[in-house]
Amino acid sequence: MSDSRQQSPNNPPTPANGIVYLIGAGPGDPGLLTVRGAELIRRADVLVYDALANPALLNYARADVEMIDAGKRAKKHKLTQDETNALLAEKASEGNVVVRLKGGDPYVFGRGSEEAIYLHERGIAVEVVPGITAAMAGPAYAGIPVTHRNVATTVTFITGHEDPTKDETQTSYEGLSKIAQSGGTLCFYMGMGRLPFIIEELTRYGLAADTPAAVVQWGTRSMQRSVRAPLNELAAAVEKAQLGAPAIILVGPVAAVDADPQGALHWFEKRPLFSKRIVITRTRHQASALRNRLEDLGAEVLEAPTIEIVPPSDWAPIDDAIRRVGDYNWLILTSVNGVTALRERLDAMELDARHLAGVKIGAIGDATAAALIEMGVRPDLVPTQFVAESLAAEMITREDMAGQRVLMLRADIARPALNEKLTEAGATVDDLTIYQTKTAESLPDDVVEALRDKRVDYVTFTSSSTVRNFVQLLGDASLLEDVKLASIGPITSKTAAELGLTLSVEAMRYDIDGLIEAIVTAERK
Ligand code: SAH
Repeated sequence: MSDSRQQSPNNPPTPANGIVYLIGAGPGDPGLLTVRGAELIRRADVLVYDALANPALLNYARADVEMIDAGKRAKKHKLTQDETNALLAEKASEGNVVVRLKGGDPYVFGRGSEEAIYLHERGIAVEVVPGITAAMAGPAYAGIPVTHRNVATTVTFITGHEDPTKDETQTSYEGLSKIAQSGGTLCFYMGMGRLPFIIEELTRYGLAADTPAAVVQWGTRSMQRSVRAPLNELAAAVEKAQLGAPAIILVGPVAAVDADPQGALHWFEKRPLFSKRIVITRTRHQASALRNRLEDLGAEVLEAPTIEIVPPSDWAPIDDAIRRVGDYNWLILTSVNGVTALRERLDAMELDARHLAGVKIGAIGDATAAALIEMGVRPDLVPTQFVAESLAAEMITREDMAGQRVLMLRADIARPALNEKLTEAGATVDDLTIYQTKTAESLPDDVVEALRDKRVDYVTFTSSSTVRNFVQLLGDASLLEDVKLASIGPITSKTAAELGLTLSVEAMRYDIDGLIEAIVTAERK
């Protein structure tokens, strides 16, 4: 049990024998978790999750949380329901806040009520946080409303896969067929293995063979796929599109294409990068901005950090320069990492942004400028082109650099151009490494596998070192032959070309926004 949570004034005290929160994780899009769910994940000591809960949600958890994957073949099998029940009880009775995270809603084909009753019988407190269930969200993201005032007045959730240990079926296909005949919407969970059976049963009881139907696989996730077809053509359509579990099978007039002739409801699958699989190669902590933007545009993002950021080998010269920053005319920062390092260093020296008051500040790139503004420092100069040469040129145009003192805080691998140009113009440049970059140890397995299986559409490169490291870590450059390669700007492109790579896309604006814009434009063609 962790004591840190007990001390937090905002959290209610945990009962002595713990508490279990059964939380609906929603259908997959991490944004569809409830606010209550996120808050409780943050509070969890133990987090027990399922295969269907998006792993991205685990990021809400505290760093010291105990994570247990109930869906994984940990000890060679996934936990049985009995084992899961026992595990929840055991962890709670040690006094922990236990979060049981389940895909969709815990009570919709999720055995949540069984877990709650089991725990209650053992004197353990249980609370439930509903989630957005797959049959509501999947169809919505595929452009299908589950009810519609004019055509569908009921919606029914059905399991297509009843407990195999039960003697007879509880599901009346006759009843379901009647509901659908009156225009009601049928939503089958866990039905893909028995699709032909479901179709046959419904039609046997009189449902018209041309009743509109649809299948939505991985609804709300970037890998969502969907098909629509009349009931008697659905199995063939599913096979052709190679759809499988997890999927919702939808039957009813709401699934008809002509229910939405203009595609007004079709926003998700029409996103500009929908279904594109894109690898990003930046450091882990820089990846999120690019990842979020790409995901908002519909892409599925795979992270392959090629670089790790490590502190410089010696802080002394940097601390010294920072302490004397008032002796300089200019302070130059060339990256967000540099700003982060500066901020941390000021903090370590018990200084803050006020210490930089007297010096003019130049920043390469909007993101670097934004990071400065976030720490309360507005840069004096951000060049129009986000490269070192451009900053040097603009400084020189702006004022006579002769005799000026410049402090540059940068990565160990930065190019010498800025230093050279300013020195040529008569400035004295103290060029210090405030962080070092290290090549990552290896690429994540899922990325290499996706490249092998030819499932990757783009690999993005945001600096020369990302290209160099990626190629080195991958070893086999032939894996990139069918992949489109996107570069953030001419310098990165040049490095790629030197390594024998052929680029498909180059940003016209040399930053993340420019890179994304270039990919979207390439896809529009
Ligand atoms: N409690 C979950 C359902 C669990 S049963 C919920 O409320 O959504 C598992 C079934 O849910 C899968 O077989 C599939 O039919 C459906 N399912 C779960 N996530 C899905 C998704 N993202 N897209 C389509 N179907 C999904």
